[in-house]
Amino acid sequence: MKKVIHQYLGQAIKKYRSKALKQRARSYTFLYTPILAIVLFTCAMGLILWTLNYQDKNQQQYTLYRESAFAKQRILLRFAANEDAILELSREISNSASKAQYPESFLKLSTKLIQDSPEILQLRWLDSRQNRIATLPNNPSYSKWSDRTSIKSVLDTELNVIFSEAAESNKATYGRMLGFHPAENETSNTDRQYVFWHVTPIIQNGAVTGGIATLYSGKRILQHMVPSELNGLYRFALVDSSGKELVSSNPKRSSSRSLEHNVTLDKTPIPLTLHVSTYPPPTNLTYRTLLWLVIGLSSFVLWSLWSVWKQTSKRYSIQKDLQTETNFRRAMEESITIGLRAHDMQGKITYVNPAFCEMTGWTRHELVGMSPPFPYWSSELVPDLTQKMAVALKGNSPKAGFEAILQKKNGVKINSRTFVSPLIDEKGEQSGWISSIVDITEPIKARQELALAQERFTTVLESLDAAVSVISLQSGELLFANKYYRETFGNTTKAHLDLAGHEINPEDVGALDIDSVDGFAGLPASALTPTQSDFREIQINQTKLWYEVRRRYISWVDGHLAQLMIATDITARKKVEDQTREQEEKLQFSSRLTTMGEMASSLAHELNQPLAAISNYCTGIANRLKSQQNIDIEKDILPAIEKATKQAHRAGTIIQRIRGFVKRSQPQSVLVNVATIIEDSVGLAEIEAQRYGVQISISFADNLPKVFLDPILIQQVLVNLLKNAIDAIKNIPVKVNSSKLIKLGVDIDNSVSPAMLRIRVMDQGPGIPEDALERLYEPFFSTKHDGMGMGLNICRSIIESHHGRLWAENNAPEKDQPGIGCTFTILLPLDK
Ligand code: ADP
Repeated sequence: MKKVIHQYLGQAIKKYRSKALKQRARSYTFLYTPILAIVLFTCAMGLILWTLNYQDKNQQQYTLYRESAFAKQRILLRFAANEDAILELSREISNSASKAQYPESFLKLSTKLIQDSPEILQLRWLDSRQNRIATLPNNPSYSKWSDRTSIKSVLDTELNVIFSEAAESNKATYGRMLGFHPAENETSNTDRQYVFWHVTPIIQNGAVTGGIATLYSGKRILQHMVPSELNGLYRFALVDSSGKELVSSNPKRSSSRSLEHNVTLDKTPIPLTLHVSTYPPPTNLTYRTLLWLVIGLSSFVLWSLWSVWKQTSKRYSIQKDLQTETNFRRAMEESITIGLRAHDMQGKITYVNPAFCEMTGWTRHELVGMSPPFPYWSSELVPDLTQKMAVALKGNSPKAGFEAILQKKNGVKINSRTFVSPLIDEKGEQSGWISSIVDITEPIKARQELALAQERFTTVLESLDAAVSVISLQSGELLFANKYYRETFGNTTKAHLDLAGHEINPEDVGALDIDSVDGFAGLPASALTPTQSDFREIQINQTKLWYEVRRRYISWVDGHLAQLMIATDITARKKVEDQTREQEEKLQFSSRLTTMGEMASSLAHELNQPLAAISNYCTGIANRLKSQQNIDIEKDILPAIEKATKQAHRAGTIIQRIRGFVKRSQPQSVLVNVATIIEDSVGLAEIEAQRYGVQISISFADNLPKVFLDPILIQQVLVNLLKNAIDAIKNIPVKVNSSKLIKLGVDIDNSVSPAMLRIRVMDQGPGIPEDALERLYEPFFSTKHDGMGMGLNICRSIIESHHGRLWAENNAPEKDQPGIGCTFTILLPLDK
């Protein structure tokens, strides 16, 4: 079963979890679309921007190629133009008549060339032996520079080589690029850092008669041969075959972002390369703006999405709370057993909950729209309930509601309590009434049953043969007392406190604050535990009655601490216990007595011999004295000797009697003379009687027959009766000249048939109380502090074993007697 429940629970939890996960996933689905849209938008914008950028770069590259080609073409064209101009100049020289003189045209042409081509640093007219005929321009700084020893030798050596090549080949020839470190004072002038020669031979009549050498400046080539409009747009540089940059149009190196292109200028023997690179592209405002706009827009959209998400999750959580609240309310509404009913202002039902439907047996569909009187009202109560409802709808419904008997559709009636309160709408205005109906059938039944149980309980408590009482420990008042208590002790706390032993002083307890735990620190902790109650036996002084008292601390119905006490009267039990104890003591005493009896028996045996001897000696002496017939002796000594003999004899008789009294145990009936038994008995009792000054008078009727009985047992009875009589009378004060007297009378009782021997022992003691008369023969009944209470019991058994009777009665009061006294009568059968 447990396993099945666990399985079921496990499945339920799994189901709930997957449902919760699905719900959670569903709650964020709304975010997917905008996020996807933003991602797509950003990608598209990125692609567009990249494409634009790519196209732009391509365009730039293409332009760079074109412009580079254009620059190269312009440079080569310029070289070609310069070559043509020099060629013409050489022709002019070869055509002139005098070599020694500058032809006019040479000067004109060369000046023009120098002016038109600033890239040419120097122009020299050389004869066949390479002697300078003319040098243009006649610039002293150039002359100074080129004539500097270190430079001059390099320049001249190179010129010599190139000149030879040109003369040999009969063609204009270009020399190698020569690099010079600028002189100290020329640091700023970079024109002359890299230069190369160009020599055009002057041919006259098929022979080389000289040459025109032009010195080109690398720097100026870039400055003047590259079209100026391109110079502003690109950085141009001349690079040698090893890739080393020799001169550039801009000393600033191109950045990594620049586009580059190389074109070869094959003018010098080691071909030069023109390196063209773009300047770092100017900030593309449109592109950047667009980029930032896209980033900004995307961020904005993301931010708005985030805020929407935040809002939505907040809303979602509120919605969830609302849903939970709604579910909770619905569950509550459906699970509560209290019927709920809403009315409009006229009392028409607008809503009922399932509990109400169940209560009345009508469906919601049937109930909604009904107006009072409702069909579920018990028919006999309709006028009353209509009136109560009208009052309630006026807002005057009692706070405790009103009770009504509802009748279900199936006729079953139920007790209910209805509470009506106003229904307030969201605007704060009353839109109707709402009633809650509680089924109180069960509580009423329970209350009745409780009352019955209470009654039963009270009846039991009231008829209990013990006093039950409860006192408040706070106020000390008597909270409950049953009938026994009230009747025995009255309706006060005194008896409770007496019986409880005053251990809780109500005044002290009353001063305590019941709410403070510490206040009870002084109370006996064990008594506070509900399972324990203490137990004690106590005797009430006034009544001398014993009670067994049980006490317990209980929580009273009002929650306060109280003490419950149950007191049972145990006086009777106590008495029995005391008696038993006394009887035990007496038994012990009896056993001691038996021992003493045995001792007395052996003592008697031992004393008998010497006493007999004394008696014999005395008799002998008396006989001797008598035989001497001396009057004096007979008068003075003989009586004394005879008295001694008599006393010795008497002592012997006493001893004999004691022995016989003690020794005999088995009854042995014989035909005896009653008088003898009486005398023997009196003889035994007399010793004690004399001690207390009690006289025993014996009276015999005439002609008493012999009776068949056990003399020792009857003697024992008589001794016991006489002893009791002595005990009764011995302490009674008597008047002067009168004595304490016990009368012992023996006669024949003819009032009974057949006639019986009657022995009566009559004393003048206090008599026997009426209640004691009946109990005299009970074993161990005694009123004496040292009495064993077995005497009369044994006496009666002995008499009854002789088929006789023994009883006691108080005497009729007589004048001049110390007490009324009592008489014990023995009746014994005369025949066997
Ligand atoms: P015990 O003498 O040891 O008390 P008994 O059985 O002989 O026992 O006597 C029982 C009780 O009867 C006595 O304790 C006494 O109260 C009462 N009783 C007996 N004889 C007399 C008497 N002559 N007068 C008054 N009470 C007597």
